[in-house]
Amino acid sequence: MNVFAANWKMHLGPADARDYVTTFLRTYTPQPDRAVWFFPPAVSLQAVADALAGKEGLLAGAQDIHWEPKGAFTGAISGPLAAQAGARAVLVGHSERRHLFGETDAETGRKLDAAVAAGLHPVLCVGETLAQRERGETLAVVTRQLAAAVKSGVDVTIAYEPVWAIGTGRNATPQDAAAVHRAIRRWLEARATPIIRILYGGSVNLKNAAELLAERELDGVLVGGASLDPVAWAQLVQTRIS
Ligand code: PEP
Repeated sequence: MNVFAANWKMHLGPADARDYVTTFLRTYTPQPDRAVWFFPPAVSLQAVADALAGKEGLLAGAQDIHWEPKGAFTGAISGPLAAQAGARAVLVGHSERRHLFGETDAETGRKLDAAVAAGLHPVLCVGETLAQRERGETLAVVTRQLAAAVKSGVDVTIAYEPVWAIGTGRNATPQDAAAVHRAIRRWLEARATPIIRILYGGSVNLKNAAELLAERELDGVLVGGASLDPVAWAQLVQTRIS
């Protein structure tokens, strides 16, 4: 099963989100070997979840949650609130949260625990910066990020997203991605993670998706910019996987 995850970031309010899903559903023919997960901004979560209700293989998720279930945290949303709005999954530790908002490894760990407590499937994002890659620290960084958040036996999806490839138009080669995915897979196997699913993210688009997905180490993709147009996204989701 391949997962195609769309991270809309700070785009598409409720009305636009509803139009988007209508167009997507008109264009997309469901396929049993793939699932499509949408991560709209919090204000559009309920609109997307409602529009996808009862549709096999399609779900809505939150882009981020606070680690506390409730309280005085102006501007934040919690796992239970996201679940109430219809979320079934949540991104945890996206590089924009880590690098633009200063989220620490320890905080991503608390958020992952909060996701599980709220019944949301966590998608833990890990990945190195360009400087870390050039210093040969990729695996050290990725395993540190995994170790801070993943608990043995917990069902989690990993998104390997090299920071230097996100929103830059540069993406890792399928071989580069596969080498890191293999290391992540070994790390998860050693901790008896129930289902191992590792997505790749970073400037994935209609042109490069087929080549990336032909690499067996990839169990799907997490896509930002190229998921914002519903017709192009439906086409990307229907990429032929050889
Ligand atoms: C992302 O936001 O997770 C991402 C991979 O963005 P983009 O596809 O735009 O690089």
